[in-house]
Parts: sequence; C-alpha cells; structure tokens
Amino acid sequence: MKTLIENGTLVTPDGLRKGNLLIEDEKIAAIFFGSSDSPNGGTGDIDVFDASGLLVSPGLIDLHCHLREPGFEYKEDIASGMRAAAHGGFTSVCCMANTHPVNDTAAVTEFIKMKARRECEKTAVRVYPIGAATKGLKGEELTEMGELKEAGIVAVSDDGKSVVKAGRMRLVLSYARHFGLPVITHPEDLDLVGGGVMNEGYWSTVFGMPGTTRTAEESIIARDCMLAELESAHLHVAHVSTAGGADVVRWFKARGARVTAETAPHYLYATDAWVGGADGLSYDVNTRVNPPLRTEKDTQALIEALKDGTIDCIATDHAPHHADDKNVEFALAASGISGFETALGVCWTALVVPGHMTPEQMLRKMTRDPARVFALPGGSLETGAPADVALIDPAGEWIVDVAEFFSKGKNNPFHGKKLTGKVVATYVGGKCVYRGSRP
Ligand SMILES: [Zn+2]
Repeated sequence: MKTLIENGTLVTPDGLRKGNLLIEDEKIAAIFFGSSDSPNGGTGDIDVFDASGLLVSPGLIDLHCHLREPGFEYKEDIASGMRAAAHGGFTSVCCMANTHPVNDTAAVTEFIKMKARRECEKTAVRVYPIGAATKGLKGEELTEMGELKEAGIVAVSDDGKSVVKAGRMRLVLSYARHFGLPVITHPEDLDLVGGGVMNEGYWSTVFGMPGTTRTAEESIIARDCMLAELESAHLHVAHVSTAGGADVVRWFKARGARVTAETAPHYLYATDAWVGGADGLSYDVNTRVNPPLRTEKDTQALIEALKDGTIDCIATDHAPHHADDKNVEFALAASGISGFETALGVCWTALVVPGHMTPEQMLRKMTRDPARVFALPGGSLETGAPADVALIDPAGEWIVDVAEFFSKGKNNPFHGKKLTGKVVATYVGGKCVYRGSRP
C-alpha cells in the first residue's frame, strides 16, 4: 500500500517547502519538491491525500504524559490515551510512572508495552514508558534501572513528586548515568508549597486562595541541576513554569551541565488570572495544575527561553482526570490538564499567531528537539525514516469542545476558547491513525 500526500507544505530541516510525500512500506519512500517530478497517483493502488493548504509535519513527539494504566483506567487507559494522542497529532509519547502499581519493575513496563502493542492494531502511536527513579515513588530505594531499561524505558522519573532527599537524588542521577538514562525531575519542594493551590501572587490574594511560591519550583531546579553537574548525569527538568526556573536552567546550561528542559503548552498561554473562570468568579477547577499557572511575565519569559534554546521542547504533561476528581472545591480538585488534543492549537495560538516563532521553529520544539532529548527515533521528514506524519491546518480556527476529546479526561481549561492551528490527520508508520475534517 502506498500513500501520496500531495500539494502540501513540507516542514523539513531546511524550512517550509512545497512538495509531495510518498509513503510506502511504513516508511517515507520519497519526497518531491515542487510538483513536476512526483507520481501522479493514477496507478490504482495508491491512496492520495490532497494536502493543499496544509502543513506536512513530522509527527509530534511528547516526552511527558500520563496514560494512567495500570490502576487508574477510570481516568484514562492506554488505548484511549493513544487515540487522544493521535487526535492531537502525536505519533510518539512517553508515559510517566505514577500508575498503580507504579512502573518500578520490568513487569509493569512490559505490561504497558504489551497493552500499547495490542492497541497498535487500531492506533499505532508509539508508546515509550518512563520508569520510576525510586521504588513506589517513595524517594528512598532506587529502582533496578538496568532491568527497566532492558524492558523498554527511555528515562526515569518520580514525576508527581520530587525526590525529597538531596542525597538520594544524587544517587538516582549517578545510577541512571551508568545506564545512559536521563533523570526527569518534577521540581517542587512540598514543604514550601505547604497548602498552596495556585500561584502565589496578586490573583491568589484576590481569590483568597493559598498560594504556591515560585521558589518551591526554582529551588529544586537549582538543587537538581547542581547534583546533575556533580554527577555528570543527564537531568531533564519537567514543566518549567516560571521565569526564574528558566533562568536557572539557562545558567547551568552555560556552565556546561547536561541539563535539558521542557515546558507545557498551558504555561505559554494561560495565566493565574484564569483560575477565576470565564466570569472571574467561578473558580475553574480545570485551571488547577501542578506547577500552577503563573503570570503573564512568566509566559513571556518562557517563550524567550524556548526561542533561545534554554527550554528544549514542549511536552504536554497530559494528565487526564475523571469528572469526580475535578467537580469539587478548587482546593480539593486533582491537579492536571488533559492536554493531548489542544497542545498543537494552544502552541500555535500562543507562539506562531503573534509571531514569536515561525511555524517550523515551533514545530521543531514538538518534533525534532524532544526526539533529541531522549534520543528517540523520528522527529524529521527524511527519506527512509518511519512515516510518522502530522497534517496541520495552520489557518484552521476552531472552538475547543471537550466533548469531542478522545481522551477520557475532559479536564481542560481551554474548553470554549477559540484556537488557531488544527491537526487534520496523523500517520504512524504510514498508517492513518486519525483523520478529521478541516475546520
Ligand atoms: Zn510533574
């Protein structure tokens, strides 16, 4: 079976170029620029996709998501998560270890891979598990990282919480380095967080909510960067949300530390003012996320940090929850945003529409650059590479409706908002795993 994606604008390492993409045997068989020398699709057994007006991008790659299985299938399972990922243009996703049981043994890693393989018959999104850094995410005994790596993990993390003890974190970094595994830190000092439920600042005062100081995040970023430098280990900083956090990463990168970092789409667009909901009074529980939404100054600093390379990539931190976990008082609501299906639109609206980044710069932060951080395959359109492709309507405007999500988690603060930039189709290994209508 061949597929010809014709008349699109290809997102190549050299920029945007009009052309056609031929897929054959799960791989990109040929790329034709211009229209003169490409096959005309008239040979019968070729599926032709007219991509006029669309960007033909490498499939999106997400280094940080929560697929919730095993243990929390009422929030999401591997199959629904993969469908949601495909709907969002993602062709590869890395899932965090805070499942039940925790992914701290090879058996759990193998279970996740087995479930993903089974779902692949329908939705072939590539799932890369992340193993726990410590057993049970308890911050004490290290996991058997070698066995986990053999089973298929691509990094280790206690995401959801920091490794509280600095000495233990040092050991994690030292041990992970021996297996060539990046350590992802969830930077949050819980003692400093105290009872904070949103960003500590003007709006927490206005809303009368206990605030979380940015220092809770920045101090752990600094500590873990120092430890990574000490151990010459690869530290990846999850969901940087503050200007100061980006500054710390920038400083350690300049010193030559092996530090990489991500931020999430919501930190580039939404702020703590959103906590008040559409009317400013209703406390939208879907804005409850960890780390919390920050200020306009922070979003601007994060955009600068993306542009100058301090922040390597954008990861969703897709964190689906059941309505029962959210339909409670703000302070009791579970933290997290179901983000696969709005990630591209939010980033396009926050970064490309205002002209902060070109389409290819932005897409690199969701394709090639995350692939590089964890040394994953994919991330660029090249002849011979697996045909992982996302077709994007760059001008497509749409209103977010969580009822249309494939994810079980409908918790998303962009519900009802107008976004620009929409995923129209997703191919993984040459197979169409999502095809929607144009806005
Ligand atoms: Zn986290």
